[in-house]
Amino acid sequence: MDTKYIFFTGGVVSSVGKGVTAAAIGKLLKERGFAVAVQKLDPYINVDPGTMSPYQHGEVYVLDDGAETDLDLGHYERFIDISLNRVCNVTTGQVYAEVISKERRGDYLGGTIQVIPHITNEIKRRIGLVAKTTGAEIVLVEIGGTVGDIESLPFLEALRQMRSDLGRTNTLNIHVTWLPYIGATAELKTKPTQHSVRELRSIGISPDVIIARSDYPVEDDLREKIALFCDVERQAVIPLVTAPVLYEVPLILERFDLANYLLERLGLQTRREPDWTDWERLIREVQRPKPKAHIALVGKYVELHDAYFSVREALEHAALSLGLEVKIDWVHSSDLEKDRHWDVVRAADGILVPGGFGSRGIEGKIKAISYARQNKVPYLGLCLGMQLMVIEFARYLIGNDEPNSTEFDRSTSYPVIDLMPDQRSIADMGGTMRLGLYPCQLQPGTRAAAAYGKPLVEERHRHRFELNNAYREMLSRGGMVFSGLSPDGRLVEIAEIADHPFMVGTQFHPEFLSRPNRPHPLFVAFLEAVRNRLGLGESAPQATTSQITPGIQETLAVGSGS
Ligand code: GLN
Repeated sequence: MDTKYIFFTGGVVSSVGKGVTAAAIGKLLKERGFAVAVQKLDPYINVDPGTMSPYQHGEVYVLDDGAETDLDLGHYERFIDISLNRVCNVTTGQVYAEVISKERRGDYLGGTIQVIPHITNEIKRRIGLVAKTTGAEIVLVEIGGTVGDIESLPFLEALRQMRSDLGRTNTLNIHVTWLPYIGATAELKTKPTQHSVRELRSIGISPDVIIARSDYPVEDDLREKIALFCDVERQAVIPLVTAPVLYEVPLILERFDLANYLLERLGLQTRREPDWTDWERLIREVQRPKPKAHIALVGKYVELHDAYFSVREALEHAALSLGLEVKIDWVHSSDLEKDRHWDVVRAADGILVPGGFGSRGIEGKIKAISYARQNKVPYLGLCLGMQLMVIEFARYLIGNDEPNSTEFDRSTSYPVIDLMPDQRSIADMGGTMRLGLYPCQLQPGTRAAAAYGKPLVEERHRHRFELNNAYREMLSRGGMVFSGLSPDGRLVEIAEIADHPFMVGTQFHPEFLSRPNRPHPLFVAFLEAVRNRLGLGESAPQATTSQITPGIQETLAVGSGS
């Protein structure tokens, strides 16, 4: 069959959940037996979001192949349970970089390089790569931003051309809009939707489906009105009222029979009846009242919860599998440095320090980790959270605050976390970390091995610094267990504290591989320890490897100066 394309544009305002809508539609189609992939086209000039501040962009989501992508790729992978690759996130920056480098090479044989056709052709080429590299039969393409933005015009022009290149049965346009609610008259307004459809038409694109997002119920007469004014079939106007549970969105769309409508328009037959049993069970489980577990998430971008999207999701997936409701208490690590908000940390049933960069708030995180270790509060450290757990432990063993990462103190006399050797000569910041899937060998008898239940795993990474091997012996004599190593043994991937109910740190980011129906084993093990602490479950398996060796302080200087 020809590859089919479904294009998603946004109207009225941004942040209406276009990514979740695309992900949910991908799920509907996969459930009907089709191979699907989703691509995000981002109109900004950065080559990827890897160098952007989380305040600008939210989380940087990492794929198997190491691509640093928009967080919408996380929605796609989680909803549809697929693994995407680097062609699935295209930015204006990538497109221009490619075209300009071809021009410099002389590939255009003296031609004048223009937005149409050179930029639009490069966009179309990249859209075409998705089916080629993923084997998808239906490719969903989401255009970031809102119709009317100057910067998304080349992308929209490429979509317009694809429709005439490939024909109407091979392409569909879905426009996701917002219906504002006017409190004074207690009504929803369709006018902005009409305007944004007009804007879309002015560049030659007519929507086939309108998804009208709203915070309030949408009556049938509004559907009629949108259909009439926007020239879309009535059944193709889908009201999508904000769902308290994100994972409900596919079921809501299913109620409007959207997937069958899309398949019909694309000239496809359903291959199998969707089975929603597991998904419905998941939603019921979310809605069921459950005992609450408070997790203090100690980070530096906590005002912006999107910065830790996958971590939130992974906690939620694991909690559901254990019959818990996880309540994340956001703690700003700089506040802890000023002796504020310790009450939140003290009240928590578990503490998590996620990934991060730069020195702001580092000491606050280390204090929280110290608290977790001393008070035997379950702790999970992700990437930076693992590195800081190592620093905290080294400080405890050595008895002063000198141990550090060279990321924060270049001249520390105890560089227990240091730049990876192959990072030393790197000058470019973008796309040059250790990125993507790498294998990790688990050491028998450890908590990590017990959690995974298999000897070798692969996890996604995004870091420049690592545990300095010169300190391994000192740390392990002190009671730190290196429970996950790279297969050549050179890189510590997982560290844990033996004499503690659950204190585990990973150099990788397990949160990127958690799925709603397949929670990540380490998050499950962490929350099992939390559940035990709450007195709600069985006790966790005990690690059997190295125990704390008292009186180790005198041997600790060994690794210093390396
Ligand atoms: N800043 C640390 C490093 O580069 C940790 C990175 C992270 O947490 N993703 O190694």
